Amino acid sequence: MANNIQKQKGISLIDFLERFDSEEKCESYLEKLKWGKGFICSKCGGTKYYKSKTKNGRLFYRCKSNGCKHRNHLLVGTMFQSTKLPLKKWFLAIYFMTQGKKGISTLDLMRKLNVKEDTAHLMKLKIMALMESRGDGTQLESLIKIDDAYYGGKHEGKSGRGSENKQAFLAAVSTDEEGHPLKVKLKPLKSFTKAGVANFAKKFLAKGAKVFSDALNAFNFFSESEDYEHYRTNMSKGNKKENYKKFNSINTLIANLKSFIGGIHHCVSEKYLVKYFAEFQYRFNRRFDLKALPDRFFYTSVHYSTCNYSGKK
Ligand SMILES: [Zn+2]
Repeated sequence: MANNIQKQKGISLIDFLERFDSEEKCESYLEKLKWGKGFICSKCGGTKYYKSKTKNGRLFYRCKSNGCKHRNHLLVGTMFQSTKLPLKKWFLAIYFMTQGKKGISTLDLMRKLNVKEDTAHLMKLKIMALMESRGDGTQLESLIKIDDAYYGGKHEGKSGRGSENKQAFLAAVSTDEEGHPLKVKLKPLKSFTKAGVANFAKKFLAKGAKVFSDALNAFNFFSESEDYEHYRTNMSKGNKKENYKKFNSINTLIANLKSFIGGIHHCVSEKYLVKYFAEFQYRFNRRFDLKALPDRFFYTSVHYSTCNYSGKK
């Protein structure tokens, strides 16, 4: 299965560019997403309209019902609200962030879109914020591997558990019977405590799941809880190679996550780390259908955007 996922074609850049090579095409695509199933005036609830353009050339529907005349702007209420950039550039940024296995760095985006570095940075943050807000609500189930890890600091990995200049996080991955990873959940923690693990489990892990962990004390939550079957491996005892093999899926995932963040996104500050986790998780959990990813993201950008993200934090 893993191979099939890696070999997925996704959407080629050339096809995507052809599909969205003008502002009109981008607008008409968003128009279909927003009003394709029928127009309702946001002010009066009327359904009659005629189309018009602002002096900047942006599409709006003028309400014709009840003498209302309200301008319903296409981009209001979407993640593109009040943008001064061409939609074409936004669409491409979304393409790169959803199709690339490792997303795209700010500098790379800057070069590819011919925008300023600050602009590229803000675009990324806005797209990541939407990915974060759409954190898949489903819980991991059946077979789950869980592990504690650290990002940053001098020594990554287990040897430095508890060091202060690192960000601790929990990673859990559900797998099929053969151990292939299905979905992932990631969450930064202050430290690894039973209470922290309990909160994570309550939110992300379905009751009745079989949970596999190492012998970290905080994971004893699973042994003490009636909601999970806990399988604990003391990594320093027995056949180490076999032990490592048991946790191959989660070890690989954590390594990929670290290389994603550290590889093309240099020096991620702690406040952004959670967004990079969200971006990684978003792509990973939807990787079975790479081709549908941009369309799914655009649907979200029109219907679920909170539009209050300025990037200033
Ligand atoms: Zn109206």
